[in-house]
Amino acid sequence: MNLSNLLESKCKKKLNLCTNQEIYTSLLNIVNELAKQKAKNESKKKIYYISAEFLIGKLLSNNLINLGIYDEVKQILEENGKNISEIEEVELEPSLGNGGLGRLAACFLDSIATLGLAGDGIGLNYHFGLFKQKFKNNLQFEEKNEWIEENSWLNKTDVTYDIDFGEFTLTSRLYDIYVTGYNNITNKLHLFDVETVDESIVPDDSIDFDKEKIAKNLTLFLYPDDSDEQGRILRIYQQYFMVSNAARYIIDECVAKGSNLYDLYDYAVIQINDTHPTMVIPELIRLLLEKGISMDDAIEIVSKTCAYTNHTILAEALEKWPMRYLEKAVPNLVEIIKELDNRIREKYDDKSLYIIDENQNVHMAHIDIHYSFSTNGVASLHTEILKNNELNNFYKIYPEKFNNKTNGITFRRWLMHCNYRLTDFIEELIGNGFKKDATKLEGLSKFIDDDNVLEKILEIKKENKVELKQYLKCTQGIDIDENSIYDIQVKRLHEYKRQQMNALYIIYKYLQIKKGNIPTTPITVIFGAKAAPAYTIAKDIIHLILCLQQLINNDPEVNKYLKVVMVENYNVTLAEKLIPACDISEQISLASKEASGTGNMKFMLNGAVTLGTEDGANVEIHQEVGDDNIFIFGESSENVIKHYENADYESLDIYARNHEIKEVVDFIIGEELMTIGREENLIRLFKEIVKKDWFMTLLDFKDYVETKERAFKEYENRHKWSQMMLVNISKAGYFSSDRTISEYNNDIWKL
Ligand SMILES: *Cc1c(COP(=O)(O)O)cnc(C)c1O
Repeated sequence: MNLSNLLESKCKKKLNLCTNQEIYTSLLNIVNELAKQKAKNESKKKIYYISAEFLIGKLLSNNLINLGIYDEVKQILEENGKNISEIEEVELEPSLGNGGLGRLAACFLDSIATLGLAGDGIGLNYHFGLFKQKFKNNLQFEEKNEWIEENSWLNKTDVTYDIDFGEFTLTSRLYDIYVTGYNNITNKLHLFDVETVDESIVPDDSIDFDKEKIAKNLTLFLYPDDSDEQGRILRIYQQYFMVSNAARYIIDECVAKGSNLYDLYDYAVIQINDTHPTMVIPELIRLLLEKGISMDDAIEIVSKTCAYTNHTILAEALEKWPMRYLEKAVPNLVEIIKELDNRIREKYDDKSLYIIDENQNVHMAHIDIHYSFSTNGVASLHTEILKNNELNNFYKIYPEKFNNKTNGITFRRWLMHCNYRLTDFIEELIGNGFKKDATKLEGLSKFIDDDNVLEKILEIKKENKVELKQYLKCTQGIDIDENSIYDIQVKRLHEYKRQQMNALYIIYKYLQIKKGNIPTTPITVIFGAKAAPAYTIAKDIIHLILCLQQLINNDPEVNKYLKVVMVENYNVTLAEKLIPACDISEQISLASKEASGTGNMKFMLNGAVTLGTEDGANVEIHQEVGDDNIFIFGESSENVIKHYENADYESLDIYARNHEIKEVVDFIIGEELMTIGREENLIRLFKEIVKKDWFMTLLDFKDYVETKERAFKEYENRHKWSQMMLVNISKAGYFSSDRTISEYNNDIWKL
């Protein structure tokens, strides 16, 4: 049956009479059937990617592209008066992730399947996932994010396990989502859920719930609030539930394929994505002991099966759990963790290597590094900092374990899907080889002096900017000027990412315009960011940005030249609309703090020019495009690390000594903003910046302003700018997650 007939038979009526919802549901069913029929890779060894987050985004279009039927479906719909983008709008975005780490896991699954490797993801099926962000009175509010519909991408399986906690046992249920490779095999994302989960314990318009009813709440939320003890213990219940299910599932699959468990590592490699799945190590050991394997053997088998990816050097993000939490939630693991710690103590006389510290805290990353065969960082600078600073004591004893795998993004979603205009044009210029081999984008460099090509690239950017303008008008009710410079910073809100520095720039620019220094081209600064519900300063920064948005967009003297937009509920769907329209990509974290970043790569691929620090993968982007096609500023990571070591950074000195900086910072608590915003929030943020400024905003501020002004000036030279865009696109191939996954496979997984 051809697709057109198939679709009509699913809808049970003529297509032109169907609602978008009916067409979406029918397409979902067709995609699931096609995905299921695709070949699987049945090879002996498989990679299991365990992650607390999979920020997969909407799946319909991505699957249609990967199955090779997107264009055909689009045409069939058009012939029946339907529009595929409107069908896409009907789909709810799965809420299974938070930020870069979860998006990376999603890109990796796409690339693993696209490269034809046997590899599945394993995680949890959160019903409300990460909260939905709402703005009211210039403040962030959180609501539950319902995304699971009657017809969803989840396929219920008959796999269940009984998972034993300290005080009770819960029965799990596995749901699978098909992961289609681009013109290749189908893998799976395995999401475990608990049968007793009860959505009704969360009121509408809220994310509050009874944290002690574990049987009812276990899989409701991703990263439940951990500002109190109950929340922290709930996270342990979640983590153990995830890894105990994973460990059982992996063992069952390997045994079914013929493993005697002593050879588990010939059948499975487990990639531990950050420390959340760390307990899979003691849990696997425990399950092997239950099968009669000795402790020595179990430890060796598991260590040869597991590999660990580190995602951060922020001290507060390195998980350590009080032993008494583990004793309450997962007493089965306690003796094993103590044994793992004892073995380290017997071997090394260095407290920094211990798993259990003198305060009875269990350091999860230490379990990972000691008892896995690989520890990798996610960009070269990050890996060097791990080796030479943060994890230097571990590197000295295990130099062979440490390796770098610079992050990547899937070009299917972040170019082919989100920017079809650019994709089609690239294909016209260099053929379609870049869709399977991203390095072929280099072929674009021969057009660097071709005026027609450069003109067309500007034209495509303009069309994408108009499209975003229309979208923001419809959804946010804000009018922006498509002829302005779109300067975009979208990412989770965190002080180290320094949205506050961008906000200070906006104040600077506002004051300049008030003084009569008018920008040649108007500027639109766009933000998108969720703050963790208990992260007070992050929420204060959102408050500041929203107050600036209100002040500036309503000031007729200024709003012709400067506008501020903070989009509500930034997620993958919004990213796909914002990134293709961007001129300047803000990647301004304090050097040494952003492990890699992947947003930076998405923007580059879509022809935005980076304004950034020498941090994370920005360093590698800089190397790829050269000094002339990026705007770099700020203190080096070496110097930043020295400032922390010497504890010699004083923001108050900079504030007091520099009149211009003082004027900008004082504006936060000046009359204009205080009448719009809340005193408590603005004063707290002001004090934080002047008295602490842990991420050294004021240190880099002057250089940031000067470099940003230089970028705006260069934007005026449209010819030169279009050449910069072309270089960025043509050099983006290195940042394909297909490259990253090939490296993981060659160096770590060896499938
Ligand atoms: C890519 C992506 C991120 C990561 O952005 P960074 O700038 O690397 O922090 C976060 N959220 C969403 C929705 C993304 O698509």
